[in-house]
Amino acid sequence: RIYRETDADIAALGERTVGIIGYGNQGAAQARNLRDSGVPVLVGNRADEYFGPAAEAGFAPLPIAEVADRAQVVLLLIPDEVQPEVCAEQLAPGLRAGDTLVLASGYNWAFGLLEVPAGVDVVMVAPRMIGAAVRDRFVARQGYPCFVSVERDASGSAWPTALAIAAGIGAAVQGAIESSAREEAALDLFTEQAIWPAIMDLLSAAYAVQRDVGFSDEAILHEMYLSAEPAEVFARAAEHGLLGQLPLHSRTSQYGQLRGLAELGARDNPLREYFERVLHQDILSGAFAAEWSQPEAMASLERLRAAAQRDPLHHAEREVRGS
Ligand code: NDP
Repeated sequence: RIYRETDADIAALGERTVGIIGYGNQGAAQARNLRDSGVPVLVGNRADEYFGPAAEAGFAPLPIAEVADRAQVVLLLIPDEVQPEVCAEQLAPGLRAGDTLVLASGYNWAFGLLEVPAGVDVVMVAPRMIGAAVRDRFVARQGYPCFVSVERDASGSAWPTALAIAAGIGAAVQGAIESSAREEAALDLFTEQAIWPAIMDLLSAAYAVQRDVGFSDEAILHEMYLSAEPAEVFARAAEHGLLGQLPLHSRTSQYGQLRGLAELGARDNPLREYFERVLHQDILSGAFAAEWSQPEAMASLERLRAAAQRDPLHHAEREVRGS
């Protein structure tokens, strides 16, 4: 289901105060959008890097625990990896039955990493948009896609609250898409763990084949992605559809693309097995979340980054980009 502006009423917040925890990418945008929507907003931030920008925007930031105590609707807009600890230590003591905790990502809730006091509603309002654009599109009244869900409805009125927040941050203009923390987290992780690695691996294989016939690194890499042409194609695909944007290419290109697609589409995709394993065994089972919450995960991230850099494609890219 898609909730439109007519389904979402900011007035459902009534006299409640909204607390924004964190003034980073999403926090800065959502705090300003809610304020401009006429909602009373308190911003909670450590006296740290983002304290200054919040104060400059006129929010008079308070300690996180104080905001959790004073607000009845609390938006948790700090990085996912620090949320469990901050929630347990600084939010939980101030959250009371009848309050609402609003998540912008399903990950921690989906994998059971957040402890939220009983009687507190838990909802998700998750923009599919970077914070800067959440603000710009609000100002331009353009809207942006957003997933909404109710994860725990202790009060019986969690949906109107979730939709009021969606409306207040400008996420109902294009319609807010009903989802769940599990679905949002799994889709996000699948894109990261299956689709993007497949694209990077595909580019690496394509580079090797073209390099073998002696084409230059500069030409290959600009043709493949350094020109940013794929970004243009994806933007048109979002507008007209993957096949719908084909007429923007030459007839030679269209014939070549459809001919290749017919051949590749006719055989079993060798990636399907990998995709299924990633979705079921790594993501939905919770195995990936458990692995990523281990203390040694950060060191593994750096090892994987170093290993990826050794691929010839990335070596060529560094040379071409002069970096
Ligand atoms: P940011 O990385 O921009 O968050 C920075 C904020 O978190 C700052 O206010 C910072 O304050 C605070 N912070 C960082 N560490 C801590 C800590 N240990 N204790 C207290 N405060 C801390 O986060 P995002 O805006 O990117 O993400 C917020 C949420 O939104 C996440 O759930 C994310 O998944 C979701 N989301 C993000 C999107 C994006 O495009 N970025 C898109 C959609 C959803 P300081 O350093 O000053 O202490």
